[in-house]
Amino acid sequence: MFFLEGYIKLALQETGLECSNRVAQNMPVGWYWVVLVFLAAVGGVIGSFLNVVIYRLPAGRSIIWPGSHCPGCGHPIRWYDNLPVLSWFLLRGRCRDCRMRISWRYPAVEAVTMGLFVVLGCWELMGGGHLPNRPLRLGSTILWAPYTGQELAALYAYHLMLCCTLLAAGLIEHDHPRIGGGVWVRLFWPTWVWGLAAPWIWPTVHPIPAFGPGPEGWPGRLLGLLDAGVGLAGGIAVGFLWTLMEAGCTRSAWNRFRNPGFWIPKVGSAGLVGMYLGWQAGLAVGLVGGLLWSLSGLVSRGLARHPADSSQTQQFSPVPFSLWLGLGSFLWILFWSRWIDRSKGLF
Ligand SMILES: [Zn+2]
Repeated sequence: MFFLEGYIKLALQETGLECSNRVAQNMPVGWYWVVLVFLAAVGGVIGSFLNVVIYRLPAGRSIIWPGSHCPGCGHPIRWYDNLPVLSWFLLRGRCRDCRMRISWRYPAVEAVTMGLFVVLGCWELMGGGHLPNRPLRLGSTILWAPYTGQELAALYAYHLMLCCTLLAAGLIEHDHPRIGGGVWVRLFWPTWVWGLAAPWIWPTVHPIPAFGPGPEGWPGRLLGLLDAGVGLAGGIAVGFLWTLMEAGCTRSAWNRFRNPGFWIPKVGSAGLVGMYLGWQAGLAVGLVGGLLWSLSGLVSRGLARHPADSSQTQQFSPVPFSLWLGLGSFLWILFWSRWIDRSKGLF
């Protein structure tokens, strides 16, 4: 908990040096904790929902109805046994009715989602995300205005949507490597739609504009949409590149493209990174994430060939592409302004 307090202070200092974007600026310190506990609780509920999506979407079942029930005995889960993370530990990882083991992945997904909500909440919502003041065009002069609380909240929600989708996509990719394209479209479409709609409503959700402040007279909404479109194209290009690499490494190469389930997860999730974070992130996160994914693939093949224990037949599956992209996006959101500072002149 001490590290969080330090983190908030760091975020405030960092942003305070350069700009005046922060919701926590005039908030009494005690309120940080109220807000953080609230964000953690919302994160836990969303994490619980992601578990439902990861489990039910590939099975072609409704993610809304019926409510959660034990896969072993079918007994509906009581509300007090459905508390994120906490209930799993209280029940020691077993169903209350039939004592069937419940995978540790459920509380892990909830804990990761809570962490996302809290860390991004400290950094973006309360700390201003290390954002420089935004350019505001008034006639022919450009004003540098701080982000408003509403804009920071929009940015926070926007980034959470991306990270949560990539987390769910990564785990579905891990569980069902050969699933059809329909599942992927059903998973991605709300995030695709939101990715194009949000910059239209809040043009400032793209802190790195694709073309600077934009030509005079161009409405911010149009530029926001354009940023998202350019990013989408960049991300799709990188995702397609990695899909080609994967297809090229196997004998049945081109046949694999006939199955949309083969290329949609890669192209779709890399496209999302570009759409949500800009083309710079689409290229950087997409290329580095893809590289790590290929490496993890090589490592898992090596492990499968030379198992430490010969009686062990368990296959090691590589860490999924979307999960690398999710991790990369999270780090990009936290550190992009520093990386861009260092590589000025490149962009
Ligand atoms: Zn049960």
